[in-house]
Amino acid sequence: MAIQYDIHMHSSFSTDSDAPMEMMVRGAMEKGLAGVCFTEHLDLDFPWQSYSESPGAFEADPKAVYSEITRLRETLQEDTDKPSFRIGFGMEFGMQPHLSDRYHEVAKQYPLDFITASQHLVRSFDPYYPDTWKNTTPADLIDCYYREMLSNLRRMRDWDSLSHMDYIIRYIPDASGTVYDSMRFHSEVIDEILRHVISQGKCLEVNTAGFRYGLGQPNPSESILRRYRALGGSRITIGADAHEPEHIASAFDQAQALLRSLGFRTYCIFIGRRMQELQL
Ligand SMILES: [Zn+2]
Ligand SMILES: [Zn+2]
Repeated sequence: MAIQYDIHMHSSFSTDSDAPMEMMVRGAMEKGLAGVCFTEHLDLDFPWQSYSESPGAFEADPKAVYSEITRLRETLQEDTDKPSFRIGFGMEFGMQPHLSDRYHEVAKQYPLDFITASQHLVRSFDPYYPDTWKNTTPADLIDCYYREMLSNLRRMRDWDSLSHMDYIIRYIPDASGTVYDSMRFHSEVIDEILRHVISQGKCLEVNTAGFRYGLGQPNPSESILRRYRALGGSRITIGADAHEPEHIASAFDQAQALLRSLGFRTYCIFIGRRMQELQL
């Protein structure tokens, strides 16, 4: 059976998307999904000053997000032929060492379905921007990225899945078509991260945007997913990280084939922060 839920998705509540939430929901319905979960960016203290962004960039207001989700749950399910379509209320928390308690307050205050934890920064800068890669080597910066991820994840109190674990490799400058193999150069710290995910009973996200970035695989890469499985990891969530309707559920068929070949048999969705496992 095809993957029925895309649970990593953005709308115009996120700084990097212009798509109204309603358009994303309708797009997902058209693709035949059974439901989605919005995971708008909440990157508290994002270094917006460095990137000519506005104050509060990448800080979606959970209250406004929840209010629109509530409206859509009430209206769309009535005026479409998909009354059982699920619209989840999630957030993507951008990790930094000092933010755990502030995210905990958000998690307490709102009826979230799902929280995905993301490492979007390294050395306080965003690897999306080429300047972050100056005055260092890729291997050094990437090693630092994973170490910061591990340290932040150990501090996080509220999370369900670790998003796009090798996100940083999308942005290596001059990669000249080769895909960076994190397991080859950083296996020790990656093992620690994967063991932490498993020991906490959490999920590892399979983010299919990696295919759109030309990596030929999801984030994290096949080699990391294989290692996760070898260490006993079985819980995964799946999301396309769409910021516009055409990317909803992108490369889900490829991801499913890969995951099955690696021995995964189920994937997880979350309702009210409670995990449900579905057949893959
Ligand atoms: Zn992200
Ligand atoms: Zn995202």
